[in-house]
Amino acid sequence: MDTQIKKKIFDLKQKKNAIILAHYYVDGEIQDIADYVGDSLELARKASVTDADIIVFAGVHFMAETAKIISPNKKVLIPDIKSGCPLADSMSGAGLKKMKEQYPDHVIVNYVNSTAEIKAMSDLICTSSNAVDMVKSFDPGTKILFGPDKNLGAFVKSFVNNEMVIWDGNCPVHENFSAEKLKALKLKFPEAVVLAHPEANKPVLLLADLIGSTSKIIKYAVESDKKQFIIATEPGVIHTLKKQTSEKEFIPLPPVQNLDKSICFNMKKHTVEKVLQALENEQFEIFMDSELIKKAALPIKRMLDMSIKLGLIK
Ligand code: SF4
Repeated sequence: MDTQIKKKIFDLKQKKNAIILAHYYVDGEIQDIADYVGDSLELARKASVTDADIIVFAGVHFMAETAKIISPNKKVLIPDIKSGCPLADSMSGAGLKKMKEQYPDHVIVNYVNSTAEIKAMSDLICTSSNAVDMVKSFDPGTKILFGPDKNLGAFVKSFVNNEMVIWDGNCPVHENFSAEKLKALKLKFPEAVVLAHPEANKPVLLLADLIGSTSKIIKYAVESDKKQFIIATEPGVIHTLKKQTSEKEFIPLPPVQNLDKSICFNMKKHTVEKVLQALENEQFEIFMDSELIKKAALPIKRMLDMSIKLGLIK
């Protein structure tokens, strides 16, 4: 990385009392300059407790929006405003409203990968780290509307007895992983442990040794005495894995076709240069209606409070 750029970013952070939060799926160079790298739950928590005046959020739009909802008095900047999430965009307010009309006695639990409008309509938000625990917080007789990720929804359903109606959305990155290629990799590397994200498709999940959030995948690989792992999530996470356990081998699971499809292009839209521009020009700021912030904050805060109580975050 250009040391001049790195120095400028460091100086601007000091001068403006800014913090850089980065998701595991962004480019490794950004992970290296970030103050904190984490998954959605950890980053939401960081955003809620930081005393920085500016948060530069290197993650997709709904993540920066979530930081703004939790910390409405802070300036939240996203280095590339076009960094969206097709999964979040798959659920519209009108679509959820229609579903709720069909199932009026169901409570609404939505994945954090959703727009602010959807969060504002939800009773509770969850992340891949805590989705099972969040649904389990309701008694088994409570009926649940879950969205927008169908694979995460089915994964949660396998742990609970609650009746669940699940939105038919998916992450194009995780949905495209190939179970056939995973079978071939397992034959080639019989000692390798398969670590998969719950957004991955069912045939892949059925072949996994561990299913968990990116943080859970990292924790498992770091603490395990095994040496080889097949990673069934966005390969950006391998940057952190290699930094934490340089002696182990990580094999990214390929998609069904076209290798590029295992990469989240939206996360990769951020660059170190764009992070610098974000700090220099204080762009691109996340602006939201105050009423929307208030409504969307409730189910997120409920999730954070429960996660703290359950010891999932500090
Ligand atoms: S990996 Fe999938 S769910 Fe995550 S931001 Fe990219 S498109 Fe959205």
